[in-house]
Amino acid sequence: MEDFEYESLLGRARERIPKNISERSRWTMPEPEVLIEGNQTILRNFAAIVDAMDRDANHVYQFLINELGTSGTREQVRVLFKGRVPPKRIKEKIVSYVKSYILCGQCRAPDTRFMKEERTTLLKCQACGATRPVKL
Ligand SMILES: [Zn+2]
Repeated sequence: MEDFEYESLLGRARERIPKNISERSRWTMPEPEVLIEGNQTILRNFAAIVDAMDRDANHVYQFLINELGTSGTREQVRVLFKGRVPPKRIKEKIVSYVKSYILCGQCRAPDTRFMKEERTTLLKCQACGATRPVKL
């Protein structure tokens, strides 16, 4: 995955949302601030990223841990990953979280919510009303 995809993904998401919604939600994602210190990798602005995502911090954290195949510690603001994780990989995983759990499958709007329906969880778009199943 190229480095620019993060920006273009989010730019695309914004473009496709009807104007009133994109203005209302003003969806921007902070760039991940990653610091490698000795044998651990620190995602310094985890809380800000989760805030922008409007998702459960623990869900995002577990996703990153699983995808990166490491363990870590979640603090209030930061996350510490065991080992040296290239910043690019962390960014890729955040993009993949956004694609899997935030963007609408139909209109690509980020204005979505999880919805429980019997035993499945659906991602429901607040912009166009489309739903798609997600695996939590
Ligand atoms: Zn939609």
